[in-house]
Amino acid sequence: MDVYGLIGNPVEHSLSPPMHEAAYDALGIDARYVTFEPTEDTLKTAINGATALDITGLNITIPFKQDVVSYVNPGDIAREVGAVNTIEFNRDETPRGHNTDVAGVKRAFQHHDITIAGCDAVVVGAGGAGRAAAFALADAGADVHIANRTVERAETVAADIGAQATAGGLDTRDMISDADILLNATSVGMEPESNKTPVPQSYLHEELVVLDAVYTPIETRLLREAVAAGATTIDGAWMLLYQGVVAFEIWTGRDAPVQKMNTALRAELEDM
Ligand code: NAP
Repeated sequence: MDVYGLIGNPVEHSLSPPMHEAAYDALGIDARYVTFEPTEDTLKTAINGATALDITGLNITIPFKQDVVSYVNPGDIAREVGAVNTIEFNRDETPRGHNTDVAGVKRAFQHHDITIAGCDAVVVGAGGAGRAAAFALADAGADVHIANRTVERAETVAADIGAQATAGGLDTRDMISDADILLNATSVGMEPESNKTPVPQSYLHEELVVLDAVYTPIETRLLREAVAAGATTIDGAWMLLYQGVVAFEIWTGRDAPVQKMNTALRAELEDM
């Protein structure tokens, strides 16, 4: 039996186990997906232990995505973003670190037939999700403006991306009025403060594609107001789904049963 897992703290309410186990069931793969909660002090030991125990693959989540980069051999994108969320173990080799949050963002747009190349995109938020989203959109050919409450964090992300990116604060009216894509990567709008939105409704317009990374609740105030403004919307579960799909494909070398994983994920979200 193959063993996959998730390392983070806390992980008890993670949606990844049902999503990945639905994929194993659909393809008849003999595997389990389990969760682990090491501390900052035991993280390195946990990664080495996983190698020794012949664990097949691990996802990494908050707060360890940055720390784990130095314990693996990161791929180009993971190194550029400075965060690893997926580890691929190969016996006798240093584990390979990937960032499937970046590919997850791209695949979420692709799923909705949205072409990112040539777009003007505004990413609100410059934490882990904002950084991955901004890199994904820039890598797919968009010009990206990163807006963040703490402007210095946005400036750091923009500087790391290079010429395709600019940075600023949360006064995004002018940027959004000219934008094709708006991506919320702040935690604003997340339960228990689901009555909040990171962007005033009056900034939204029908030319926008709005992706909200927040997935609890699945229908955020931002998405409701985007629909009312005539915009196209993509909820946060698509981003979550596709980071898992890409991890599954890296680990197994097989096409993921996307529909089954999506059904399992959304059933779990409905129960929350
Ligand atoms: P993080 O690293 O802690 O970053 C939080 C971000 O939210 C920062 O940009 C922060 O701004 C901003 N923020 C927090 N409170 C704010 C407020 N009251 N007003 C304005 N900005 C505020 O968190 P993260 O990992 O990036 O996650 C952010 C959100 O994305 C969470 O809701 C998370 O669940 C979601 N997420 C979704 C996926 C997915 O697959 N769908 C993946 C990862 C994360 P400052 O820098 O100024 O503090």
